[in-house]
Amino acid sequence: MNDNTLLEVTGRIFNIQFFCVHDGPGIRTTVFLKGCPLRCLWCHNPEGISRDLHLSYSATKCIHCGTCAAACSAHSLDAEHRHVLDRSRCTLRGECVKVCPTEALSIVGRNVTVGEILGEIERDRKFYEPSGGGVTFSGGEPAMQPEFLLALVKAAKAEGINVAVETSGLAPFSVYESILPYVNTFLFDYKETNEARHREFTGVSNELILANLRKLHDSGASILVRCPVIPGLNDRDEHFEGIARLTRELPNLIGAEILGYHKLAASKSGRMGLSVQDEYEPPSPELKAEWNAKLESYGARIYEA
Ligand code: SF4
Ligand code: SF4
Repeated sequence: MNDNTLLEVTGRIFNIQFFCVHDGPGIRTTVFLKGCPLRCLWCHNPEGISRDLHLSYSATKCIHCGTCAAACSAHSLDAEHRHVLDRSRCTLRGECVKVCPTEALSIVGRNVTVGEILGEIERDRKFYEPSGGGVTFSGGEPAMQPEFLLALVKAAKAEGINVAVETSGLAPFSVYESILPYVNTFLFDYKETNEARHREFTGVSNELILANLRKLHDSGASILVRCPVIPGLNDRDEHFEGIARLTRELPNLIGAEILGYHKLAASKSGRMGLSVQDEYEPPSPELKAEWNAKLESYGARIYEA
């Protein structure tokens, strides 16, 4: 049983996804926390990078009815009766969201308590035990909200729920140390072996990330290393060799899993008025198999979901 102090800890999330099958063992509920210190060129979750809230506007859902313009001066209709959004006037009050008849508008991000999250994930709970699943805390970077993350993993564990945390690895090690007793599996991203390239692709060095991975491994954590491989960026032999070396040097890793790229991010960024990232070609199943064969030839321990 959880005490109220824990259940009342509040943080900011941008999504809860139900019935997930790629975010750790079994069927899982994935809770996405807001805020991330990296800027990966291929980021799949641009709405998770900033801690701020965003107004999302979908042009494909908008019927240009003008109802939002009556609710807030950030919206208007132009001479051709087309909807116009002036983000500089948006104060994120959400009045427009309430009146939009087609759900073309939404606020991305909300503050929630640990207790509310436990209540929301209840609907997937029946799937956890038969599938060996549970809850996964992801982001953004969940370690950017250390008190909230600690309260979440503690509370889920106290409810007997299997807990996974997906992390970029970029946080003070003390955060990982504090959550370690309550986490069944870490999904630890490893994006690039070459330090200069890591900076180029993510905006930060990989030094602290690698040091944290090694320390976490030596602390006895159960860790699956997840490697987003983006054609033309990090699909280089040097990086595949680096992944293989890691799985050899850290014998208790569950293994390394290659993650493919998908193109959903650009449309999400556009809806939120954020700068739109470059797009890359998602790998074919054949190309993914080639990458895995290459990893194997370098002696990597591969994990395939
Ligand atoms: S209320 Fe919704 S559908 Fe109507 S103009 Fe505004 S955004 Fe478009
Ligand atoms: S670590 Fe994840 S959320 Fe953060 S920028 Fe990279 S891909 Fe996006």
